[in-house]
Amino acid sequence: AKEKGRNNVQYFTAAMTQTAIERLAIEQDLRHAIQNDEFELYYQPQVCAHSQQILGVEALIRWHHPQQGLVPPLRFIPVAEESGLIETIGAWVLEEACRQLSDWRDEGICNIHIAVNLSSHQLRSASIVTQVAECMQRYAIKAGELELEITESVAMDNPEHCISQLMALRNLGVSLAIDDFGTGYSSLAYLKRLPIDILKLDRSFVHDIETDPNDAAISEATISMAHALGLKVVAEGVETQGQAYFLASIHDCDLLQGYLFGKPEPANIIVEQLKKHLHS
Ligand code: C2E
Ligand code: CA
Ligand code: CA
Ligand code: CA
Repeated sequence: AKEKGRNNVQYFTAAMTQTAIERLAIEQDLRHAIQNDEFELYYQPQVCAHSQQILGVEALIRWHHPQQGLVPPLRFIPVAEESGLIETIGAWVLEEACRQLSDWRDEGICNIHIAVNLSSHQLRSASIVTQVAECMQRYAIKAGELELEITESVAMDNPEHCISQLMALRNLGVSLAIDDFGTGYSSLAYLKRLPIDILKLDRSFVHDIETDPNDAAISEATISMAHALGLKVVAEGVETQGQAYFLASIHDCDLLQGYLFGKPEPANIIVEQLKKHLHS
């Protein structure tokens, strides 16, 4: 038994070292990824819950690693955050999303918004407000066309600073959404102080909404609370007609997002979907 215990310890250490090595390798590769143009934004539709018309898209980053192929964001965003590289990557995402929006406008696709994920590190940065302002100006982005998604916990450590940053962003005409709502620990009193427009109901509540009375109750309460506060709700991870019906018709959710309406796709594929919508 003693022998086995020691093996476990060795195995554990080896696994940790492996993880550390992997992180280091990812960090090193990330440093070149921007210069080498290895990132791409995919876009996933957000539809009106009632008409199912596409109202906007969420931009989701993809990394085409030269050796490893497609690396999912959850494997490199945390590394980017810890190493400070998220500032550069985040700036690229913002620029690329705004550029895309102005491209689509030139093709006659108007009246859709792009939602961009903003890391808490970016929100803390002193330059984020001017960065967003300059991007909007460069691509003539109008009020309501750019949405920024932040997570619930984003402002927890320094609420005053973050709230003033959020207010400055909102004054630029940016809409603000709380991502993964319901998975954090924020109180309603805290939420009330944030200058936000949208709640994104986390997909963990959507998955079993038809069969789990607790999930249904959380969804219904979240949506009616949001409406009472003047906020819109986007439900995430909608995969079935049943879930969509439940959210739209029973709970009066505003927007739906999920595989049922489309997976995240490259711009050239999503643009066809957007055009079809315009002409139908
Ligand atoms: P998120 O912001 O919650 O994004 C939604 C995730 O759910 C995406 O994963 C999307 O592909 C996935 N998803 C969409 N519909 C469905 C569905 O119907 N069922 C299921 N099971 N999943 C669905 P993805 O693209 O892998 O992104 C993962 C996370 O990485 C994002 O979660 C976000 O936190 C982060 N991320 C992605 N792009 C960026 C970025 O540009 N900047 C930052 N800071 N974070 C990003
Ligand atoms: Ca998001
Ligand atoms: Ca989310
Ligand atoms: Ca998430």
